Amino acid sequence: MEPKFIFVTGGVVSSLGKGIISSSIGKLLQARGYRITIQKFDPYINIDPGTLNPYEHGECYVTDDGMETDLDLGHYERFTGIRTTRNNSVTTGRIYKTVIDRERKGDYLGKTIQVVPHITDEIKRRMLREMDRDKYDFIITEVGGTIGDIESAPFMEAIRQLRWELGKNAVSVHLTYVPYLKAAGELKTKPTQHSVKEMQGMGIQPDVLILRTELHLSDSVRMKVASFCNVDLECVVQSEDLPSIYEVPVNMQKQGLDAAIMRKFGIPVGETPAMKPWHEFLDKQKNATKIVRIGLVGKYDLQDAYKSIRESLNLAGIYNDVKVKIEFVNSENITKANVEEKLKDFAGIMICPGFGQRGIEGKIIAAEYTRTHDIPTFGICLGMQMMVIEFARNVLGFADANSREMDEHTPHNVIDIMEDQKNITNMGGTMRLGAYACQLKEGSKVASIYKDKLIHERHRHRYEFNNKYKDDYESKGMKCTGINPDADLVEIVEIPELKWYVGTQFHPEYASTVLEPHPLFVDFIKQTLPSPSL
Ligand code: GLN
Repeated sequence: MEPKFIFVTGGVVSSLGKGIISSSIGKLLQARGYRITIQKFDPYINIDPGTLNPYEHGECYVTDDGMETDLDLGHYERFTGIRTTRNNSVTTGRIYKTVIDRERKGDYLGKTIQVVPHITDEIKRRMLREMDRDKYDFIITEVGGTIGDIESAPFMEAIRQLRWELGKNAVSVHLTYVPYLKAAGELKTKPTQHSVKEMQGMGIQPDVLILRTELHLSDSVRMKVASFCNVDLECVVQSEDLPSIYEVPVNMQKQGLDAAIMRKFGIPVGETPAMKPWHEFLDKQKNATKIVRIGLVGKYDLQDAYKSIRESLNLAGIYNDVKVKIEFVNSENITKANVEEKLKDFAGIMICPGFGQRGIEGKIIAAEYTRTHDIPTFGICLGMQMMVIEFARNVLGFADANSREMDEHTPHNVIDIMEDQKNITNMGGTMRLGAYACQLKEGSKVASIYKDKLIHERHRHRYEFNNKYKDDYESKGMKCTGINPDADLVEIVEIPELKWYVGTQFHPEYASTVLEPHPLFVDFIKQTLPSPSL
């Protein structure tokens, strides 16, 4: 079969959940035995979201091959279990950079470089890139932003051209919003009609419409949309608010979204796959009612800032038959005087990753409190580094211990800048990024959790545990139980004496998926049971 292209765009408002819809389409096609990939095209100028503040764009996700990407790639991986790469995430900035670099080299032979065709050609080249390798049956391309944005116009033009060139092998899926007007007691389809008109004005007729709605849409509403927008009735699908995003694929399947897309491609539809493992997961999720409270000690009070950590905790809860209630604790407000009050009722504490000074002293105080009260604690990246600093200050007796990131002149630099990071001046894309090997110490807690000796996990940091102090730590009870074999970097610390006190320099949260939750998260939550329930 020739590869088929599905283009997913959004209209009316942002934050409709295009990423969830793209992931759901991927999941459903995968369940039919097809090989799929999902790529994200973002209209902003940054080369990648690596330098963006989480307030701007939520969490920065990292692929195995070390690309810093949009958090939607996390949804793609969690839903479908695929491993994305740097090819799955493209921004306007990357497109322009490629074209401008080529222009400087003289590749355009004296031509005037323009948005059309040079920028649009580069967008098309990247949209099609996965096709050359004959790896996939379906390539799903999600375009960020909302129809009508100035920034996304070149992407729309690229899609228009590709639909023309690919003919039957391209399908356009458009996601819109149907608001409910309380005063009128009506669901309004006009914004959808306008959004489709806008697309038609750009030369793209959507094949499939997915209507986001808070209330169920009657057949007559769907019929109205179908006839006003030139879309088959079976291709007008609704996406109601559901208790969990993981119910979306099933809801889409019930309405025949995958079948409708396949018919558009002229592919025989066949039987609807049962998706047994997925349904088993959803059943587990429904039955998990007992609540476990986990405190998330970080500095961003924003759902999306620690997206993968939150999802990994939720998934780990479900596999332990409990519902994890995540409560954010702002580390900037944690003091020695109030730490007990703030943390005592949690079954477990997660100390979050991060950059810079703000909120670190609170993380250190939290690490001390949970260590001395034996509350299960999981520190990730900066969280692990804060556990290490706390141990140096309060157990090793180095009251001034710090990370060089926070205090360049600290005499006890238990966390130090990595050798190959010393002379870096460009901040974008230059950290230690992506998957690296980690050897687990025999007999350690982590070795028994992973049931493995050599693992690979994704990284995103510049600073590392300072090996000069390794013996001090080990002799006082904090063990270095995960080591990168190539560079001898400490990747995991744990205190075996305590119930569960583990810090990882890497980010295990990026690798947790719905059907394969990450073992560290599953074990962490397991350790928090039974807990004070609400
Ligand atoms: N700021 C720390 C470092 O660069 C930790 C990074 C993180 O938490 N991702 O090493």
